[in-house]
Amino acid sequence: MHTKDDITGIHHITAVASSTAENIDFYENVLGLRLVKQTVNFDDPFTYHLYYGDAQGAPGTILTFFPWQTLPRGKPGTGMVTAIAFAIPRSSMAFWNRRIKATGRALQTAERFGDPVITFADTDGLPIELVGRVDLPPTTGGGRCQIPDDHAIHGFHSATATLNGIEDIQALLEGEMGMRRHVQEGARYRFLMADQAAPGHLFDIVVDPAASPGKPGVGTVHHIAFRTASGKTQAQWQSNLRQAGRHVTEVRDRKYFRSIYFHSPGGVLFEIATDPPGFTVDESVEDLGTALMLPDQYEPIRTDIEKRLPALQRNAFYQGVEDASASTEAGRASAT
Ligand code: ZN
Repeated sequence: MHTKDDITGIHHITAVASSTAENIDFYENVLGLRLVKQTVNFDDPFTYHLYYGDAQGAPGTILTFFPWQTLPRGKPGTGMVTAIAFAIPRSSMAFWNRRIKATGRALQTAERFGDPVITFADTDGLPIELVGRVDLPPTTGGGRCQIPDDHAIHGFHSATATLNGIEDIQALLEGEMGMRRHVQEGARYRFLMADQAAPGHLFDIVVDPAASPGKPGVGTVHHIAFRTASGKTQAQWQSNLRQAGRHVTEVRDRKYFRSIYFHSPGGVLFEIATDPPGFTVDESVEDLGTALMLPDQYEPIRTDIEKRLPALQRNAFYQGVEDASASTEAGRASAT
């Protein structure tokens, strides 16, 4: 039975990218997300930390990147989140199919638990999925490229982690984190989080006993963060998880949320992040993502940081995508 203190859903997912320009171009111009925060990696302040989400930067819609240009490409495998799924309207499958194909990338289509799924990779090889849903969580639309509202992404649908076995992770998810094992399809086990009206309340484990560990690097997920309502509920999680023998960090102030971290069985790095204070703590909703925001400890070295970070230019790598999907649509319309 869920209580209001349970983990409500995914808060954010953080992955590793190479080029900032290609990253922005793909997530803003192709997927239509909004860049809601330009800041730095608080543990490595000469590296960007870019946050994308819905128009308000709501938890459950936030995909973030550390662009580490010189890091080698990683390889998805066990002990990692191996796919990130966004929810789209089921009636938009054909729109997204054309749009992704117009970028020149390969895509696969499949059905999973009765929902159609499109799978492809971002510019660094990170696996992305779009799941067609009839019941969509409310979100607040996207960013610069103005995907029509009836096609827009509605935050996360789910995330998938790959592991060699299910028992240990299930003990953590169900026993300590209050999730509920929901359905199973082949080697895929789906767990349900408490707030089923919010985006990102599903977490899938794919069991592959023979799979090798993933190699961290560009194009892989760094960690997954789950949501909790407040600092008070977070302290309870920290204490409960420690009592269960998990090695949980101290609370770290990430300015937009507060975080604790621990490794789950099988190696996936978990974070539990607070909903408050949110991304409007230092910018208005209208201004989200428009300027480099720094935490107080790095303001004294802002000039240095700004000098060493690459300019956040948008190179419109995929400028033609919109035209291509629009003309295909026009072509289809005139043919029928
Ligand atoms: Zn995080």
